[in-house]
This record gives sequence, structure tokens and C-alpha cells, in this order.
Amino acid sequence: MNISRKDFFKKSLFSLGEAVCSVTNVLNSAPEHVLSMPDSAHFVSVPHEDQTAVAYNETCLAKYSGCFACMERCEPEAIKLIHGVGIRINPRLCDGCGTCEYVCPVTPKAVRMQQRPKPVETAALHEDITP
Ligand code: SF4
Ligand code: SF4
Repeated sequence: MNISRKDFFKKSLFSLGEAVCSVTNVLNSAPEHVLSMPDSAHFVSVPHEDQTAVAYNETCLAKYSGCFACMERCEPEAIKLIHGVGIRINPRLCDGCGTCEYVCPVTPKAVRMQQRPKPVETAALHEDITP
């Protein structure tokens, strides 16, 4: 399909506008869920073998590409953005440091630390992990 440069920019601007509107709608519809962004410079990241991060995508702003705070700070790159869904966490990569929960700006937190389940339970808890 051929598309003129003018149309290309028009479509790009339209998509950008849609994304901004989606994020704005989320923020306006649930202002009580939004907090200020905690500064991770004050957080001491210590791995905990017995802990793992778990996503609660109901309040995750990444659903509308409105937030990347946890992904940007996850050193083992255990967090993936899934557009329209939120985030997914790979428990095999997660070292239990808790940085993602600390920096998450919404309340209740859209990513929370939990006791790491035994191997059999891990599959059930993270059913949506992509291989
Ligand atoms: S606890 Fe640490 S390693 Fe695990 S997902 Fe969160 S930031 Fe990444
Ligand atoms: S920091 Fe919180 S709101 Fe932002 S992408 Fe991560 S889980 Fe979602």
C-alpha cells in the first residue's frame, strides 16, 4: 500500500493523540489511583531469593503505554510491556529486589512483592508468561 508522507504524519499524529487520550482518560477516571513517582535513588535494591514480583494489571498504566517506570529500573529485565494488557513478569529472571514495587506510582501498587511460590505453584501464579 502506498501512503504519502503527509498521510503518514497525519496517521502518526492521530495515533499519538489517541494514546494521550487513553492515558488521560485513565488518569481522570481514577485520580485516587495516581501518586507521585517515588525517586528510586533513595531505594536500596537488595535481591531476595524468597520473593518475587507479581503484576496486578487492573491499575497498571502500561496498559495504555502510560508508564514504564518498573521496566526501566528492572536490572535483570524481568518485566515486559504488553500493550492493552499491562506488564508481565518472568519469575525466572526476577531476583526479588522490590525496585518495581517501590517505583510504581499507582495505588494500590500494580506490581507487588510476594513470597516466591514453590516451583509447582510458580506456573499457576504466572500463567501468562511468554516463553
Ligand atoms: S523485583 Fe526487581 S528483578 Fe523482580 S521484577 Fe521487580 S525490579 Fe525486576
Ligand atoms: S510502574 Fe506500576 S503502573 Fe507503571 S508500568 Fe510498572 S506496574 Fe504498571
